[in-house]
Amino acid sequence: MTQILAIANQKGGVGKTTTSVNLAASLAAVKRKVLLVDLDPQGNATMGSGLEKHSLPYSVYEVLLGNASINVAVQPTPKAGYDVLGSNRELSGAELELMDMEGRETRLKDALASLTKKYDFIVIDCAPSLSLLTLNALVAADGVIIPMQCEYYALEGLADLTNTIERMTQRLNPNLRIRGILRTMFDPRNTLANDVSAELTNHFGDQVFETVIPRNVRLAEAPAHGLPVMYYDKGSRGAFAYLTLAAELLKKEKKRKTA
Ligand code: ADP
Ligand code: MG
Repeated sequence: MTQILAIANQKGGVGKTTTSVNLAASLAAVKRKVLLVDLDPQGNATMGSGLEKHSLPYSVYEVLLGNASINVAVQPTPKAGYDVLGSNRELSGAELELMDMEGRETRLKDALASLTKKYDFIVIDCAPSLSLLTLNALVAADGVIIPMQCEYYALEGLADLTNTIERMTQRLNPNLRIRGILRTMFDPRNTLANDVSAELTNHFGDQVFETVIPRNVRLAEAPAHGLPVMYYDKGSRGAFAYLTLAAELLKKEKKRKTA
C-alpha cells in the first residue's frame, strides 16, 4: 500500500520544503521507494533534490492539465535516492486553467493512481497557500504532516489550519488524517519556543511528532548543492533529526496497521 503524505501549512517559511526533501531522502535511505511531488511553483523541492527546474522534460503542471503522462514526467534524482515529479514557475498558471476543468480537485489523485511504478511513500510538498493546488494534494493524500515553528501566533494559526483542512476535505476525502505536527527550526534556548512547544503537546497530544527538528544551518545550506542534508553533511544534527522523523513515522505506521 502506498502512503501519500501532504506536507502542508499555509504559512511560508515553516520548513515544508525542507521536510519534504529530507523526509523523502530519509525514507529512501531505509529502502522505501519514494516519490516526491513538488506542488509549489517556486520549485524549491525540485532544485533541492538536484534537478534543474527549468529543464524538466515535463513538470507537474503538464500532468495536472492532462498534457503529459505522469509516468513520463517523473524523473529519478541524481543522488537523492528517490524520484521527483518536478515543478517550476509554469505551475502558477495552473490554478486558473484548472478552474474550469472537470475533476479539478482530483487531478493529482487521478494522476497518482495511474503511476505504473509502485511507491511505498509519495510525499507532496505544498505551496504556502490553501489554493486549488493544495486542495489537490489534500484530496490525494492519506495523511497530512504540518511543519510549524514554535512562535507566538503558531497555535492560533494551527487551529485555523486543522479546521480548514477538515472543512476542505470533508466531501472529497473524509478519510484524510493529520499524521503529525512537526516542530521545526527549534531552538531549545528560546523560552518562548519551549512554552509554545509545551502548549502544543498539551493541546494536540500524540498528534505532535516526538521528533523535533532543530535549527541547523546545514539544513539551510544543503539545497544550494541540490542535496538532501544527509548527503551534504551526514553527521549534522539536521540529518539525524530527519532520519529520526522517518523512523518515528514508520513506527507509527506499523502501530496503526496492527491497531
Ligand atoms: P517552506 O517550504 O515552508 O516555505 P522552507 O523549508 O523553504 O519552508 O524553509 C524556509 C527557510 O528556512 C529556508 O531557507 C530553509 O533552508 C530554512 N530552514 C528550514 N528548516 C530549517 C532548520 N531546521 N534549520 C535551519 N534552517 C532551516
Ligand atoms: Mg516551500
